[in-house]
Amino acid sequence: MMPVSTREVLDEENFMSVFEARRLIEGRYGKLIPEPEFQTNGPASYYQIPGRHQRVGFIGAMTNLHFCESCNKLRLTCDGKLRPCLGSYLEFDIMKPLRAGASDEELKQFFLDVVDRKPEQHDFRDNYKPGRKMVAIGG
Ligand code: SF4
Repeated sequence: MMPVSTREVLDEENFMSVFEARRLIEGRYGKLIPEPEFQTNGPASYYQIPGRHQRVGFIGAMTNLHFCESCNKLRLTCDGKLRPCLGSYLEFDIMKPLRAGASDEELKQFFLDVVDRKPEQHDFRDNYKPGRKMVAIGG
């Protein structure tokens, strides 16, 4: 579960770690084979299922404390806020510079400044309630 909601959704009852999910899958299909070279645009870690042409990816946002280390994502909301992280309250109004006629160079700098503000880690573990549903944040 990715705990992004306008209300608290995560508790001890519904949390399952990546380790537990892997244990359950491996109990049925055999030991999963890590594929560290296989990358997509998201933060999943992929594994090959032995003897099958399928792979499975795990997104361990709540399991792995270093989950955010390789994140390259920005999110743009439909009301013009650029957010450097899905799991943070930070957002920056890109409509202002756009409406003020910012140049391409100024907009590039705006994006770079937002990238600079990417947090080292998300706030999911601190009862994060972003005030927007995930679908309104993007991603
Ligand atoms: S920094 Fe934010 S957007 Fe990036 S992986 Fe972490 S939680 Fe997701």
